[in-house]
Amino acid sequence: MAIEIKDKELKEMFEHGLYFHGHLCPAMPLGLRAGLLALRTLGVGRSQDKELMLLAETAEGHAMACFLDGLMMATGCTYGKGNVKKLRYGKLAFTLIDRKGKRQVRVNVKGEFVLNALKTSPFIAKRKAGVPPQEVEREMAEMAVNKIINLPEEELFNIGEVTPIEPKPAKGTFEAYPCEGCGEAVYAKWIRVKDKKFYCIPCSGYKGNKDA
Ligand SMILES: [Zn+2]
Ligand SMILES: [Zn+2]
Repeated sequence: MAIEIKDKELKEMFEHGLYFHGHLCPAMPLGLRAGLLALRTLGVGRSQDKELMLLAETAEGHAMACFLDGLMMATGCTYGKGNVKKLRYGKLAFTLIDRKGKRQVRVNVKGEFVLNALKTSPFIAKRKAGVPPQEVEREMAEMAVNKIINLPEEELFNIGEVTPIEPKPAKGTFEAYPCEGCGEAVYAKWIRVKDKKFYCIPCSGYKGNKDA
């Protein structure tokens, strides 16, 4: 058996996604499909910069973590660019915001699908038994992936209404100063002042909110 993906866009996403994610599992391609569905629903392309914002309701833990990698791959929203926020609700769900079009849509993986997979998937049974995803037999992992690739969208996802939103503007940071302690460059917003000198957060000993 091999992985067969007829849709050209999904096939390309899957190849890049697998390289980025690091192992073969069903939750990453589930995230890919969910992300592509949200893009299509909003009628937008992948986020090149911060045109889109992803609010993921995932938390830590294998399936949710893998799902988010698929979402990031599909939508182009990444932790590095700062247009992903994890809400940690413990759900396979997310809202994709189109900042330019001022619209958003929420997608969630159907409850009955998640609960059924947790009970019946041989891949998940291996994971429950403590087998790391990269050590699950190739054929079993491929079977799980093929299932996700081939199930009709309506069996996997609920799609919410597209609703209007007033998004916050995304600002760049172009001002930095050297730290008196370590000499490393620190972006202005994160400078801490001690005895009228500029320090980075670790050198200043500051323990407060790092984003203020
Ligand atoms: Zn995974
Ligand atoms: Zn420093």
